[in-house]
Amino acid sequence: MNYQVNEKGYYGEFGGAYIPEMMVPNIEELRRTYLEIIQSYDFRQEFIGLLKNYVGRPSPLYLARRLSEKYQSNIFLKREDLNHTGSHKINNTIGQILVAKKLGKQRIIAETGAGQHGLATATVCALMGLKCIVYMGAVDVERQAPNVKKMRMLGAEVIPALSGNQTLKDATNEAMRDWINNPVDTHYIIGSVVGPHPYPDMVARFQSVISEEIRWQLDEQTGRENPTRVIACVGGGSNAAGAFYHFLDQENVELIGVEAAGKGVDTAETAATLTLGTPGVLHSSRSILMQTNDGQITEPYSISAGLDYPGIGPLHANLFATKRAKYLWATDAEVLDAALELTQLEGIIPALESAHALAVLKKIQMKPEDVTIVNLSGRGDKDMETYLKHFEKAPPKPSPKGRA
Ligand SMILES: *Cc1c(COP(=O)(O)O)cnc(C)c1O
Repeated sequence: MNYQVNEKGYYGEFGGAYIPEMMVPNIEELRRTYLEIIQSYDFRQEFIGLLKNYVGRPSPLYLARRLSEKYQSNIFLKREDLNHTGSHKINNTIGQILVAKKLGKQRIIAETGAGQHGLATATVCALMGLKCIVYMGAVDVERQAPNVKKMRMLGAEVIPALSGNQTLKDATNEAMRDWINNPVDTHYIIGSVVGPHPYPDMVARFQSVISEEIRWQLDEQTGRENPTRVIACVGGGSNAAGAFYHFLDQENVELIGVEAAGKGVDTAETAATLTLGTPGVLHSSRSILMQTNDGQITEPYSISAGLDYPGIGPLHANLFATKRAKYLWATDAEVLDAALELTQLEGIIPALESAHALAVLKKIQMKPEDVTIVNLSGRGDKDMETYLKHFEKAPPKPSPKGRA
């Protein structure tokens, strides 16, 4: 079974490039050139050099001792939270800014929801001296003020998207409109494994450094390259794609993606796309989406702004359909508990998104000899307001087991 994209841009029945005619030149240029560019020696040298010396890779693979004790198994954390700018997003923006440079682009556009991808894009634009425009839903501009301030300090122009619900989906629409109007000098840095081919494949390749490192790091620490399972949270699916990538063909490695259930999968306030969705086309790619019977996209909800996207990358839709990966979910309440547990057992405050992956440790069977990798996609600094608001209402009780 081959889980990679085919030459037409499909993962099984998902993917493709459902684009308006006016976007064809941009996508065609990228489709024709991306593999040659990113596989060239010069590109690899520059990409690997920046990941090492600018981002701070390799990110540690850390055996979480007290967490492992609590669950009576072996749990390793892949520390993407320690990357420059605080999440895995920078792996992709470094790669794409180098592609943009090779294509001679002068101007970069991006969409952002919580602001983490906007921040990572503004960062690499400052690094390379390129003009940066970030589209962000007007509601998100209000909600994510600290990231907006950082992007502006980095020299990016943040443009509020005023259409629709004024969140991520609308920001994406605005960015696509900009690209259609500026096809020659502009590159659009998409922030996850979504959008038209070749974006899902290109972004997955840049993020695949995560599982590449896991394999040699695990070998170094335990004498085996393959864990029992890998767990990662899923919004569009880029950190999970990176953490799964080099294990896709290792059928004995269990792959688990975790969606945001919000208030619960039996409520309207949720973002559990694979659990509740149906096939359809969103943002130029065929995948599984949350939509009404007549095809209107339903507004997603999650406590973590980075996961409330109504779609999912086509790679994941295919892993779901072929049952190569399993997709579980975690509610807001379960996520807050898991975040507090990691903080008090290991001294690591995770991003709300990453805490979804941690939350399913309670929902799966782990044997004492199992080796489980949890991809810690980001750090919790950006979520402190949410954590404080919640934990002040219900003061945290330290878990007796954890304090033993
Ligand atoms: C953006 C983000 C996510 C969700 O995006 P994916 O493409 O699904 O990885 C998860 N975790 C963090 C910390 C993020 O910033």
